[in-house]
Amino acid sequence: MPFTPHGKHLIAGEWTAGDDTFESSPAHGPAHRFAFGTPDLVNRAVQAAEAAFEAYSRRPRQERAAFLEAIADEIEARGADITEIGTQETGLPAARLEGERGRTSGQLRLFAAHIRKGDYLDRRHDEALPDRQPAPRPELVMVQRPIGPVAVFGASNFPLAFSTAGGDTAAALAAGCPVVVKGHEAHPGTGEIAAEAIRAAIEKCDMPAGVFSLIQGGDRSVGQALVQHPLIKAVGFTGSLAGGRALFDLCAARPEPIPFFGELGSVNPMFVLPHALEARGEEIGRGWAASLTMGAGQFCTNPGIAIVMDGKAADRFVDAAADGLKQVDAQVMLTDGIAKAFNAGRDQVAQSAAARPVMVAGAEGRKASPALFETTAAEFLENPQLHHEVFGPLGLLVRAGSAEEIEAIARALEGQLTVTLHLGEGDVAAAQALRPVLERKAGRLLVNGFPTGVEVVDSMVHGGPYPASTNFGATSVGTLSIRRFLRPVCYQNMPAALLPEDALG
Ligand code: NAP
Repeated sequence: MPFTPHGKHLIAGEWTAGDDTFESSPAHGPAHRFAFGTPDLVNRAVQAAEAAFEAYSRRPRQERAAFLEAIADEIEARGADITEIGTQETGLPAARLEGERGRTSGQLRLFAAHIRKGDYLDRRHDEALPDRQPAPRPELVMVQRPIGPVAVFGASNFPLAFSTAGGDTAAALAAGCPVVVKGHEAHPGTGEIAAEAIRAAIEKCDMPAGVFSLIQGGDRSVGQALVQHPLIKAVGFTGSLAGGRALFDLCAARPEPIPFFGELGSVNPMFVLPHALEARGEEIGRGWAASLTMGAGQFCTNPGIAIVMDGKAADRFVDAAADGLKQVDAQVMLTDGIAKAFNAGRDQVAQSAAARPVMVAGAEGRKASPALFETTAAEFLENPQLHHEVFGPLGLLVRAGSAEEIEAIARALEGQLTVTLHLGEGDVAAAQALRPVLERKAGRLLVNGFPTGVEVVDSMVHGGPYPASTNFGATSVGTLSIRRFLRPVCYQNMPAALLPEDALG
């Protein structure tokens, strides 16, 4: 039987219809109707989250870990339905949805193991020094505590791993924080199944119902009401620079400002240093084409810019990249809006006097074809609009005339999620000069690889200086992302009977 969504919001364990509905806009297959979000529904969900907070955050870590594992099991049990509706809604291939489902359940299990271990609590203890002169020192205990109800915005480009039951939700629930998700209109049916998996796990693990709610779609007033609600204490967001910045500003302007963890745009520059270019330029060019077009280029880690030393090896590199891109047919984009934004961004680059087309092909409707442009270092440095992300399969080659120009480009970069260095044996000294510049620009520096493909592990940093993210001290992938939803509390002279269980070890 094909899966048919009922189209309701999930508010504190109850599937709730609204007065208005919207129709989904799948890449293929039938459209369905979904309840439209409102600020009033947001308020009900947030009130329920606050009501659940104390009970949920007090549940022992073992129980919260079992809850996260139960969500992972429930997602896996719904795998076929998720793949069916997820592929229809997003146009992504089944293999991608299946891989993303594994990542989603995997990160829930990773957080379960992480909180069982307890290192994230960062417990610190300074013993009392009653005989210290001139004044005694009290006993001090520090431990990380959950921050309160968290708002999460589902991302269009990861219908599972960065959406309803994705990384932000997993990190917040692991920390002990209830979650209210504003679902993305691009995949409401996929969101409904993920929410049902969480609802089933809440019941199975006897967690408070308000620990999770999903508000489907709605207009801008829904997201605005969510981040401005006085009971929301932090926000996790993945999306556009414009949207993220607008919501960040609302969070900062609240009577009580709250942290907004936005993961926004990035062009993920790739420096191909001279010896690597000479020895492996064609291979790197082909790899660049594959990385640029993976998932129709709709990855926040898409390497949109390559910087090379001009010359014959650069010509071979660009020819290999263009050949690779020509092999890729037009691909379906996640939404009509994203396809339109890609075409507009590509046309803007094409109209710039500073960029010359290497290959550009048109595509109909919701599809995008790869595009490759080139410019010089001097033109790149003079035209900041060329530094901005065009979300989709677009590459810009920058030809530099000297090592000084390469360094000037590194220094001119905005904040990035990633920067890549391709090195040959003779490039180490040049790379040593660039590394201190580049590590101030990005959350992750890679050597001889491609940035698409983000490992979900303890050491991952998926964040970076603005505009890559709104909080460069944080990551939105990996276990360190739990830190976003915790705050340190120091207990002075507190008897053990009053300390939270987590402070005791
Ligand atoms: P988006 O437009 O930023 O939207 C993300 C979410 O935020 C949606 O739920 C949206 O609600 C909400 N939102 C955006 N602006 C808002 C505002 N001013 N007030 C209240 N809510 C607001 O991102 P998207 O829909 O995922 O994709 C659009 C563009 O974002 C892409 O073309 C791409 O450039 C970029 N993007 C970047 C990344 C990345 O990782 N770097 C990932 C995905 C997308 P509505 O749907 O109601 O507007």
